Amino acid sequence: MTDTPTTGDDGTPVIPRRRRGPRSWPVWSQPGRIIALLSVVELAAAGLSVVGLVTEPPAAAVWLGALGLAFLGVVHTELATGIERVRRRVAHSSYFDLSSVWTFAGAVLLPPAAASLVVVVIYAHLWARVWRPAGAPLYRHVYTTATVVLACQAAGALVDPERLTALRDYGMLALAMVVYVLVNQLLVTLALGLTADRRTSWSDLVGDWDDHILEGATLCLGVLASVVVLRQPALVLLVLPPLLVLHRAVLIRQLEERADTDAKTGLLTSSAWRGRANRALQRAARTRTSVAVLILDLDHFKTVNDNHGHLAGDEVLSAVAGTLLREVRDGDLVGRFGGEEFVVLLGGLPLAEAGRVQSHAAAERIRRTVRMLEVEIDTPAGPLRIGDLSVSVGAALSESDGHTVDELMQVADFALYAAKRAGRNQVRIGRPGRPAP
Ligand code: GH3
Ligand code: MG
Ligand code: MG
Repeated sequence: MTDTPTTGDDGTPVIPRRRRGPRSWPVWSQPGRIIALLSVVELAAAGLSVVGLVTEPPAAAVWLGALGLAFLGVVHTELATGIERVRRRVAHSSYFDLSSVWTFAGAVLLPPAAASLVVVVIYAHLWARVWRPAGAPLYRHVYTTATVVLACQAAGALVDPERLTALRDYGMLALAMVVYVLVNQLLVTLALGLTADRRTSWSDLVGDWDDHILEGATLCLGVLASVVVLRQPALVLLVLPPLLVLHRAVLIRQLEERADTDAKTGLLTSSAWRGRANRALQRAARTRTSVAVLILDLDHFKTVNDNHGHLAGDEVLSAVAGTLLREVRDGDLVGRFGGEEFVVLLGGLPLAEAGRVQSHAAAERIRRTVRMLEVEIDTPAGPLRIGDLSVSVGAALSESDGHTVDELMQVADFALYAAKRAGRNQVRIGRPGRPAP
């Protein structure tokens, strides 16, 4: 069956309905190793839940308790979607899921099968309200649900809610938190690792510190929720307000990130770059390494605008920004200095001649890649290819050219002018008169 319109009996076009059977599920387009991982993890989650159901069948009151926790999770998602809607207006990233407060409380308080029910209800609701409308693939959400079920089973096995009386029993709660995070993170990292390519960074695989701190804070609320449910169940509602404040904390963090990001290119703004470059320079002094500062200016960029218009010019700037990010290492800093000028800080360079050679090689690699870049742009008149680009690069080294970012930028700027005067499309390093590597 195809998606091309055909003509019906009355001559009107009929669009064939898309095939929706299991064979058309996007999961089958994944590599075999991913399908194998999903199958193993999901079968393990389902298997352990069934084993729990048989070995520790929950009483009716326990099922009711599980539904109560799941209901709080659903209320939480409903309240949070309001804040998340505001957040999506300022940042185009996905929903922040803090539901582990409820799933962790379920793991601690409930027998395995009932804990799994809490996860399944909360995640089914999240799918319906958040991920399905966002167009996320179902197989990914099912995998996430299975990882949370397994994390709950592992954490739950460590804690006996009947014995939560002495301080040392609470030590097991802390251990359960660590195990919950580790199981979840390990399975997520495994799935990401199996699809990783050359451009995947370590932080893509393991997440960043802010996310882990947030998860830790959520689990702390999970611990409080568990203890409150054991002592004064009605007070568990008090967990909701701080949870919503956590959602707002994410909003604030993303506003900060947005303030540091150049909207056109996604690079650091000039001032954000300068702040981080200062810190990188101090770090280099402590670790006895060197950094290089590059200033790059696109050659004759005005003619790109003149020939193809400013919108096409913007697309070229964004493509060059992407090239710069791909050509430097994780931890190097790439910013938009202004207009068609960029700044790059290359960190962790060796001292002496080796550092100079490495920074020259990196700058040359960037220059060559920009030279070969072809930017394809969709225009109302059809696709347009813009090539024949070039960049001039001026560079300065912290070891020989200055101790502050300003000093290094001044030297790099002089070097850039020297590269322009010498005919453009070239790299110059350091003060004039110094020997080239
Ligand atoms: P040179 O080789 O001497 O650097 O020549 P150039 O044309 O690149 O330099 P010039 O300073 O004469 O012109 C810079 C151009 O960059 C002119 C300006 O319109 C363009 N420009 C600056 N910012 C933007 C932007 O955000 N978008 C677009 N499309 N063009 C920009
Ligand atoms: Mg310029
Ligand atoms: Mg220019």
